[in-house]
Amino acid sequence: MALAMIWTMSILPLIVPAQTRVSMPKNKYKVQDDIRVGREAAAQVVRQFPLLNDDAADQYIDSIGSRLVAAIPSQFQQPAFNYRFEVVNARDINAFALPGGPMYVNRGMIEAARNEGEIAGVMAHEISHIALRHATAQATKQGSIGNQLGTIGLILGGAILGGQSGAQLGALGAQAINTRYSREYETQADVLGSQIMAQAGYDPRDLANMFRTIEQQSGGGRAPEFLSSHRNPGNRYENINREASLLRASSNAIKITPEFRRVQESLNSMPRARTMAEIERGYRGGQGQTQGSTYGGRYSNNVAFPSTRTRVYTDGSTIRLSVPDNWREFAGQGTLTFAPDGAYGDQGITHGVMIGIYRSNSRNALQASEDYVSGILQGNPYLRQHSRFSNAAVAGRQGYATVLAGRSPVTGRNEVVAVFTAPMQNGSLLYIAAVAPEEESYRYNTAFRNIVNSIRVNG
Ligand SMILES: [Zn+2]
Repeated sequence: MALAMIWTMSILPLIVPAQTRVSMPKNKYKVQDDIRVGREAAAQVVRQFPLLNDDAADQYIDSIGSRLVAAIPSQFQQPAFNYRFEVVNARDINAFALPGGPMYVNRGMIEAARNEGEIAGVMAHEISHIALRHATAQATKQGSIGNQLGTIGLILGGAILGGQSGAQLGALGAQAINTRYSREYETQADVLGSQIMAQAGYDPRDLANMFRTIEQQSGGGRAPEFLSSHRNPGNRYENINREASLLRASSNAIKITPEFRRVQESLNSMPRARTMAEIERGYRGGQGQTQGSTYGGRYSNNVAFPSTRTRVYTDGSTIRLSVPDNWREFAGQGTLTFAPDGAYGDQGITHGVMIGIYRSNSRNALQASEDYVSGILQGNPYLRQHSRFSNAAVAGRQGYATVLAGRSPVTGRNEVVAVFTAPMQNGSLLYIAAVAPEEESYRYNTAFRNIVNSIRVNG
């Protein structure tokens, strides 16, 4: 009897089918490189994508994300990574992740999912790309032509800017963020994603189902982005289901939860979200909601100096400031721009200010300010930072100021960008980027100072 027991025990592992083994791809970059590139790209994303900023939806996605991150196999856990999740107010069924942890889930993705498992599936797939460090692994594989990391930065961050001018933040280009991974990496993300799902209490088949859902709904241009950046490595649906059968998925896997219902209902009751294409057009054309004005003006060599008369601008609740009364405003994508005629066009502004909230994962305001500036420098390679941040009173609080300068590709003249930042209570950063040609800047100093002093924000 004892002999039989031993026999059984030794043979058992052989007859239980094992889950597919995933191994970390070769990577010549440091973990810190993933983090840096992701952080810089995230700086652009928050500026160019309309985040939903809905507490219930954010918390819901965050709770799914945390459960999945906790289920990453220990050999792929990176303590230095900071996984975090944001909901983008866009209609397309899309999601994307940046190296080192930032992830963005479109509202359209949450609305299209048939259960929580489908949302978790997409997120587990994206988390796998991050955990396996696929962005830098792909750069490793592609050889070292020039500065590959710079290239990733460009793909992930700079290219979405297309920024050529001033503190201009350029065209959206979601495809640039959606790095296209190799089929091998797609398979890896499917396999590891399935394993993470099972470990977290989801049914990995829901990952396969979500890819089906996306395919079915991708008519009308609603989902091409996700499918083209996560190419089907071949038999995706079958392969994920085969992996699922190797994993002991819980019989009561998480499917439709009260939270899922509540969040979907709440999203459905909101005004229809714009598509990424509409957002991009709005961004390029700056179809500001205010005054029906367009951002697509013509640059002129004769821009009027700032009027000494000011007017008060307020959105009624969150922001209030005084601006020269010959500047018009453009609101869109989380950035509020004020510029005079002849100073704005498809490459941004040559004179004026851009104001917005920068959401950073840095703990202190100075580090967040540096992250913000590195995003500007990345998108506007002609600019150089001319001074370290110094203390400054901004918006009635203790903030920071620094100066960037360089030859503007729009005006061909040297341009000065003064950047002012101030901490918000929720850890975000208020920024004001004030732009003017260097030789005219003395005419703008007073206007800029008045704006920095008069601005008041809630929060
Ligand atoms: Zn993928």
